[in-house]
Amino acid sequence: MDTQILQIDENSLRLAKEIILNGGVVGMPTETVYGLGANAFDTAAVESIFKIKGRPNDNPLIVHVHKDYDINTLVKDIPEYAKLLAKAFLPGPLTMVYKSRGKVSKTVSCGLDTLAIRIPSHEGAQKFLKYVNLPIAAPSANVSKHVSPTSAEHVLKDLNGRIQLILNGGNSIGGIESTVLDCTGDVPVILRNGLITRDMIAQVAGDCQEYVYKDGMRALSPGMKYKHYSPVCRTVLFSYNEISRAEEEYKTEINKGVKAFILCDGVTAEKINAENVLNLGKTESEIAANLYSKLREGEEKAELIIAVAPEKQDGIMVGVMNRLSKACAKG
Ligand code: AMP
Ligand code: MG
Repeated sequence: MDTQILQIDENSLRLAKEIILNGGVVGMPTETVYGLGANAFDTAAVESIFKIKGRPNDNPLIVHVHKDYDINTLVKDIPEYAKLLAKAFLPGPLTMVYKSRGKVSKTVSCGLDTLAIRIPSHEGAQKFLKYVNLPIAAPSANVSKHVSPTSAEHVLKDLNGRIQLILNGGNSIGGIESTVLDCTGDVPVILRNGLITRDMIAQVAGDCQEYVYKDGMRALSPGMKYKHYSPVCRTVLFSYNEISRAEEEYKTEINKGVKAFILCDGVTAEKINAENVLNLGKTESEIAANLYSKLREGEEKAELIIAVAPEKQDGIMVGVMNRLSKACAKG
């Protein structure tokens, strides 16, 4: 199968709709990362997403809808705080988990009685979702466990020959996946950190808890237990206080003839003594937006990525650190 990358226009949207209605999958842009979308009502189509990505079959998918879609047809028991949050942050990088009405294929939620819904703000994503006017189940459009894609080219690299069409909506400006928020209880609970932070949610909802997965526990958000976001080369992660250890490791490896690169934020890049640097940028938004593209650049150039954590660890850096530590995790 040939994989085409097309700009979003009437023609490509028509083709995308045809593919979706025929049970196929389409690569689609969002403001966070690119998604691999299929009709959420079509079990065979949803199953093919898992197959194409090599995704574990207990890791549920998020359903994407356009901003005027009536989500009450898909989910029930939407609490008042969730309505306030939706008003404040949607369309945008916030996924909300509700009690499902069981209308979409059971495969989407891997048998859970809940459904995760997202309304992306990306203009191209909105156009596509409006054009098909269906709930689109979509995980990130990468091979499972690999670095998530933030451009159409990244999707092509991972899925060339496995899908027919990638809608090209430019680089994803957010850069890390949406915040996943459980809205089935009295208080919202963060299942995955992202660009909408705990403080932002608490300010609107009055309170916000965070679910921390520990090995062996029943996973509320099954995706969080897996190694993830990983480049194909070796990786090692140092904390911000260990810059000199990172430098030493870099020197030792370079002297051994290993192609080592330091991955760090702009502040560390200025002071670190190394020639090969993957600079994530200075502001928090830049760091989030560049994380995956720099990890992908790194795996092309380097045999070893030596990552140094940013100094700041709160706000959206919580989500960034979660991705970075999983990218550098062993096993
Ligand atoms: P991805 O599609 O790769 O961005 O991952 C989607 C994330 O949303 C994973 O961490 C899933 O575990 C989580 N998720 C999707 N649906 C649900 C759900 N019904 N309940 C809890 N977490 C969910
Ligand atoms: Mg993913």
